[in-house]
Amino acid sequence: MTEPRPLAVITGASSGIGLELARQFADNGFDLLINAEDDELQAAAAELEATGASVQAVQADLRSYDGVEKLYAEILATGRPVEAAALNAGVGQGGPFVQTDLADELSIIQLNCASTVHLAKRLLKDMQARNSGKVLFTSSIASTIPGSFQAVYNASKSFVQSFAEALQNELKETEITITSLMPGPTETEFFERADMADDTAVGTSKKDSPAQVARQGFEALMSGRAKIVAGSLKTKASGIANKVTPDKAKAAMHRMMAKPGTGKK
Ligand code: NAP
Repeated sequence: MTEPRPLAVITGASSGIGLELARQFADNGFDLLINAEDDELQAAAAELEATGASVQAVQADLRSYDGVEKLYAEILATGRPVEAAALNAGVGQGGPFVQTDLADELSIIQLNCASTVHLAKRLLKDMQARNSGKVLFTSSIASTIPGSFQAVYNASKSFVQSFAEALQNELKETEITITSLMPGPTETEFFERADMADDTAVGTSKKDSPAQVARQGFEALMSGRAKIVAGSLKTKASGIANKVTPDKAKAAMHRMMAKPGTGKK
């Protein structure tokens, strides 16, 4: 008898880092339950099925409480333990805080922070009952930088980072591992969605490959590492520099990268 494949849950799996994380899980013997909001998820599921994994796609808007509960109900309905979860869905918004739309920013908090806490609560209770499981939180290098002209997004990632590191400590006497994935600027739909693709220095700069970020994140998760700054050597060097750079200087550097009008045409 062959061993059944373990199940991994990945949110935000229709594009970018989440899709590449899903590919890593599939290529490494996991079946998948993937989530995103839009229909593009179905195309991602078809692509991932070609790896030989069984893939279930659950479309749900994680900005709402009911959306997260819908996803969790589908997870429970599989009747299978979740061996690994990547809580990855997230969005940003660039621009001066006094001009950006309040509704957009509250929905960033809803998705990046509230849904992450909500799903972690459900999944970790089940993992604790079995004393097994691995959870990857997609944080960001932005979690360590006051995000001038992207203020709410960076703050949301500081929340995720602090949350993940607190859970690592709470669960250190169990077999459950928590890993925080901290990408730098990565070539995905993120900057387009955040209205930063064309007129900011970060939006127009060369970015890391989502496949490379996901591979490093997956390897860190499997080896139970607490956190990883993932991507190119340049990104890893920024991660090291961030540890010793004063917050005020980091905010000034972020301004140069994220202020509208700084884009290279
Ligand atoms: P992306 O390509 O835009 O992917 C975002 C994913 O989140 C998509 O699958 C999207 O699906 C999903 N999503 C968005 N709103 C959702 C909602 N309301 N409910 C459920 N799913 C939703 O961007 P990405 O760069 O891969 O982002 C993935 C994660 O990486 C995010 O947490 C982001 O903060 C983080 N990150 C990105 C970078 C970067 O430079 N790209 C750097 C550091 C960290 P739909 O299209 O269906 O909405």
